[in-house]
Amino acid sequence: MGFVFSRDGFAEVIRQLGSRYRIYAPVLKKGEGRFTDTDVVRYDYVKNFDEIELEKRSDYSFKEILLPVSGTLFYFTEDKVTEPEMDDREILVFVRSCDLHAVKRFDQIYLHNGQERDWFYERVRDRLKFVLIGCRESFDDCFCVDMHTNESTDGYVFSVEEADGEIYSDLKEEGLRELFSGNSVREEDKAPAHVETNKIFVSVPDEVPVSICKDKVWDEYDSRCIGCGRCTLVCPTCTCFTMEDIYYSDNGKVGERRRVHASCMIDGYSNVAGGGEYRKKHGERMRFKVLHKISDFKKKFGYQMCVGCGRCDMVCPEYISFSECINKVDRAIRSAEDGKEAQA
Ligand code: SF4
Ligand code: SF4
Repeated sequence: MGFVFSRDGFAEVIRQLGSRYRIYAPVLKKGEGRFTDTDVVRYDYVKNFDEIELEKRSDYSFKEILLPVSGTLFYFTEDKVTEPEMDDREILVFVRSCDLHAVKRFDQIYLHNGQERDWFYERVRDRLKFVLIGCRESFDDCFCVDMHTNESTDGYVFSVEEADGEIYSDLKEEGLRELFSGNSVREEDKAPAHVETNKIFVSVPDEVPVSICKDKVWDEYDSRCIGCGRCTLVCPTCTCFTMEDIYYSDNGKVGERRRVHASCMIDGYSNVAGGGEYRKKHGERMRFKVLHKISDFKKKFGYQMCVGCGRCDMVCPEYISFSECINKVDRAIRSAEDGKEAQA
């Protein structure tokens, strides 16, 4: 079911949905970027359509709703454990196609990775529904087409995109038909916009031989990468966390346990008892991250982890390009294969 709205008409839809759902969407935060006088787009709770940023890609992903940067799992005293209270309304989250594909990766890790489902994740996930923001044009760093995440045909309640001053929406949920038809200017079926090509192209190798781990392709990152972890913190498919206990009392028996974002790029992630540390060099961490994204995850689950959103390229202070790194790995594998053939 397709509907076309004036901005005011769609704003009324969002206003009414706001009483049923908590709505999270990308919001332009003026002057709150990393550097002086720069802006940032990140997810926030919204009440009005005007607050939602539909044009720019969000610098940070939706994942902070499912996995807060620092989220309290429970409070404890000497003899009691209590869960934090939750707003039990359903949650609507505005995402682009790449991020909708990233939700599948999150579900894979937290719900379908072994015998246990992550209860803390699931109780939030069960309340989440998605609104698809159509992409009429590719952003500079995206490579979603080569990662096959540029189009979504399901998994959303309705879509939204603005064209020529009108709002187009593809409605999937029958229960919202009355609200949509009552506020729209006309009905018109139109699939959500998606890009057919990007400005960045990646060639993901079909097979990644173990020998790539020793390749010199990783060496440049020993000095270029500063191990800040920004690339992983913005990534919609990085799911790692660590635990922190915060004690309110000196005896250590009253406090709260938090789940906090963690990253394989940051110091301390691979520390082990006895003072050992796997992957000390930043090039080794880069190798671990890249191979996880384009090979190891696929070996286990059958599809690529990276969705090609390009956020990591945009956020890196050292201008390290993840997409270029994929292409370097591909070239290194091809040249090793060519060398073997020449020797044969
Ligand atoms: S690795 Fe980079 S491009 Fe791929 S999903 Fe993560 S942030 Fe997006
Ligand atoms: S690749 Fe860039 S963003 Fe990622 S840890 Fe290294 S310097 Fe930081």
